[in-house]
Amino acid sequence: MKQPKTTKRYCPKCKKATEHKITQVKSGSKRGTLKRGSIQRAQKRSVPGKGNKNRWGSKPAKPKRTGAKTSKKTNTKYTCNVCKKSTLQKKGIRTKKIESE
Ligand SMILES: [Zn+2]
Repeated sequence: MKQPKTTKRYCPKCKKATEHKITQVKSGSKRGTLKRGSIQRAQKRSVPGKGNKNRWGSKPAKPKRTGAKTSKKTNTKYTCNVCKKSTLQKKGIRTKKIESE
């Protein structure tokens, strides 16, 4: 998937649409893979790494499927060119490869 280097987007700090720089986040400020409802469900069901790790009083964890998908979700960061504040994308899209043009 090809992606432009800049885009016009609404900036919550400037309270208007401004030019934003697009960068791909590798690690660090990345969001978790689970959504809020899924995290609560994982803690209830005790998925490995979440909640009461298969100890007494909880159901055994379902094994995680690995290597099922060949694509990864994008993790885009938008940096405002006016105030330099940055926001992360709301929803990622599945692509095998991402390049900026
Ligand atoms: Zn701004």
